[in-house]
Amino acid sequence: LTAYRGRRVVVLGLARSGVAAAKLFHGIGADVAVNDRKPREECPEASELEALGISVQCGGHPEGLVNEETALLVKNPGIPYSAPPVAAALRLGVEIVTEVEVAGQLSQAPIIGITGSNGKTTTTTWTGVLLEAAGLKPLVAGNIGRPLSEAAQEAAADGWLVAELSSFQLKGTRDFHPRIACLLNLAETHLDYHGTMEDYVASKAKLFENQTEEDTAVYNADDAVCRDLSQRFRARKLPFSLVSRLDAGVCVEPPYPSVKPGDDEPEEERRIVYRDGHGGEVAILPVDELGIPGRHNTANALAAIAVALAAGADPERLAEPLQVFRGVEHRLEYVGRFGGVNYYNDSKATNPMATTMSVLSLPSPVVLIAGGLDRGSDYMELLPIFRTRLKALIAFGETREKLRKVAESAGLPAVKIVEPVGDAEATLRRAVEEAASLAQPGDTVLLSPACASWDMFPSYEVRGRMFKHSAHTL
Ligand code: ADP
Repeated sequence: LTAYRGRRVVVLGLARSGVAAAKLFHGIGADVAVNDRKPREECPEASELEALGISVQCGGHPEGLVNEETALLVKNPGIPYSAPPVAAALRLGVEIVTEVEVAGQLSQAPIIGITGSNGKTTTTTWTGVLLEAAGLKPLVAGNIGRPLSEAAQEAAADGWLVAELSSFQLKGTRDFHPRIACLLNLAETHLDYHGTMEDYVASKAKLFENQTEEDTAVYNADDAVCRDLSQRFRARKLPFSLVSRLDAGVCVEPPYPSVKPGDDEPEEERRIVYRDGHGGEVAILPVDELGIPGRHNTANALAAIAVALAAGADPERLAEPLQVFRGVEHRLEYVGRFGGVNYYNDSKATNPMATTMSVLSLPSPVVLIAGGLDRGSDYMELLPIFRTRLKALIAFGETREKLRKVAESAGLPAVKIVEPVGDAEATLRRAVEEAASLAQPGDTVLLSPACASWDMFPSYEVRGRMFKHSAHTL
């Protein structure tokens, strides 16, 4: 990175990762310019950077921000490539990276990179727990909260930097090289940003591109797109599977008959097994002893186990941290039992695949509260679970009418559309009240929106907390 000393580096986007990148390049003596489209009042981080002598411009993109002198553009992952300064960089041939690329160049610690459409935070957090228990000194960061480049400066060479990575972050990498890379699954999400499924898949695939035979590639052998991609991996492959017996990998014994739970599947005792490909086999733990329910979480556990084993964890000592982990807030989080009804907060389920997996993980009948930002999908993917698992749908947010159509196609008799009343909190509260009035003791009420929150809420966290508050104060 010292190559940038004395040269112009533009940091676009003043979120936490932008602040971290700006400080870092300023620290090595680069001429840093920071810009955010948001008005000054919405950029509280600006003064901290200015106090260090970094130039910050908020409110629009200044003319000539990215110019011939610019050596590097560090872009917030959420900013599209069509944004004027990014377009200018593309035109001038200025290198464009995300802060993750910078982190990769900085880290003394080997990197574990975890990506996928769903389950990233759960798996990354769980991996951290497994590595901690194994004494492998993990530092967990990235898309999960703490900027990766900040953590990268602290990670010890004999520890691991465990990174949760989004496709947006990966798209802006070049030399990023994880010692262990993990791909959980690939669903059709984020197409509004990437434009095509190909671009989305290509971004995820970048995680594996710089790997060599000395590295490990963990992937989901049950996912056709992941399997296809794995043919191009150069690293040692360590697949995981719920539905097939693997000679080398982490799997479930006996295997499940299908990827998605069916309605009349016999409940069998299963255990998680690791096979090393040379005839060696270790039983890790019975599936029903895992700390969090749901078959998708079993898949997340398989991935975390595979990563931990690749990092050198002792397979005999994984059982305990697999039992004690209770999941992450807003992911199929148990809220409580009110009036005999169990409430779950799954506000983080922002696409139909996530909602499907969650509904399938909980006892039916389910009263589902769903809806949110309209990204242009028709939500027909939800049809099967609407048919077999739901008792009622409470739809709110921008997508409420689309969800009503799906419910009608599924022949679901109980559908309530919640029109906006007052603010977002009042509307969500109305939805919870509707759900409570339709649920009987023993039923499940689940907030699993299948949509992002930004039509009404600042974040899925706020949406989830408001839901929990409504449930507790019914
Ligand atoms: P991410 O960080 O990728 O958004 P999370 O771990 O935060 O994933 O989980 C988000 C939601 O996705 C969960 O609430 C759950 O509904 C769903 N989910 C979690 N793991 C999986 C998985 N392996 N497959 C499908 N859906 C999943």
